[in-house]
Amino acid sequence: MSIAPLRVVIVDRHAWYLPEIEKEKFRRIGAEVVVGWAETPSRPAAADEGCPKTEEERRRLSRLTSDYVSLAETTEDEVIRMARGAVAILVVRADISARVMDALPDLRVIARYGIGIDNIDVAAAQKRGIAVVNAPGFCAREVADHTMMLILALSRQLTYLQDGLRAGRWPRAVSPLRALYSQTIGLIGFGGIGQEVARRAAAFGMSVITYDPFIDAVRAREIGVTPVGLDDLLGRADYVSLHLPLSAQTQHLIGEQQLALMKPTAFLVNTSRGALVDECALIASLESRTIAGAGLDVFETEPLPTNSPLLKRSDVVLTSHIGGYSDESAEHLRRMVAHTVAELLATCAGGARQ
Ligand code: NAD
Repeated sequence: MSIAPLRVVIVDRHAWYLPEIEKEKFRRIGAEVVVGWAETPSRPAAADEGCPKTEEERRRLSRLTSDYVSLAETTEDEVIRMARGAVAILVVRADISARVMDALPDLRVIARYGIGIDNIDVAAAQKRGIAVVNAPGFCAREVADHTMMLILALSRQLTYLQDGLRAGRWPRAVSPLRALYSQTIGLIGFGGIGQEVARRAAAFGMSVITYDPFIDAVRAREIGVTPVGLDDLLGRADYVSLHLPLSAQTQHLIGEQQLALMKPTAFLVNTSRGALVDECALIASLESRTIAGAGLDVFETEPLPTNSPLLKRSDVVLTSHIGGYSDESAEHLRRMVAHTVAELLATCAGGARQ
């Protein structure tokens, strides 16, 4: 059955230029897919933002989400303009507020290219009868690998050793350098990613404890992971690693008080969302050596401002919110999101929005 002309718009400048995967999935239901920001005349400055000019450049870049991190955020007004008439919008990072929803009366589905949905006002969507979908689990293994990479870099003093070599020295490791097999990792959040990290950490010989109020403690114990309270975890873990969603309840879950509970030799690792951590409190605790260091893929403000004190610290390992990325996960993500939205549109296209 064809239900054309349904308009599906990719609204985010962090997304891809060529929506071949999406087009294939939506062809089945007769919907057209538009890369809103690439086709919007309201962005004459696009060329200045490093946008590719040739088809070949577009093709190459459409596979590399990382290249989009340097582009400016899409504003609410831009989303509204490019998504006019859309029944579904596909979004990576742009904020989708109640105002955006009210300005798009045909909108039935908001899809997040990712797991966290903290950039979407879900309560407002629910009130308006708009479905919100995400891509649970699409990159759990990549984020778990990335988390271990940060832990290994901190534990094996990668930054210090590499910087020393590059500066013409032959640096020796500095004590304390504790063997990973003697260390305890504390996972805050024990869902898809937390469990993948647990598996990897156990393979390195680490003891694994977790704090997650919503998990089956018996199941955790069965796989060798000890459930504990949050304060207990903070006091015991050599690596505190965050794997929970950002929400009003979890914002600044790790602040001054929690950092003060950590051991002075312990590291904080965050591959979830920047705002789970009070970044000012983190910087203060690094400065006062309340904790030993941090491994961060996510920040309260992204891209990380170039004047962030974090950039100057040798006790911090930093990456640019790339933990979930691999060619495999990007393709899986796009197929999963497009499939879910096409299914939803096929079933709810005729229904009126409340
Ligand atoms: P998930 O839903 O499978 O697991 C989240 C877990 O957090 C659940 O078990 C839940 O019970 C637990 N939780 C919720 N509130 C909690 C609280 N207050 N204290 C402790 N635990 C709590 O999600 P996931 O797939 O494991 O992803 C976790 C987060 O990782 C996502 O929400 C997303 O923000 C982030 N993420 C980051 C990247 C990246 O590129 N760095 C990629 C994907 C996901």
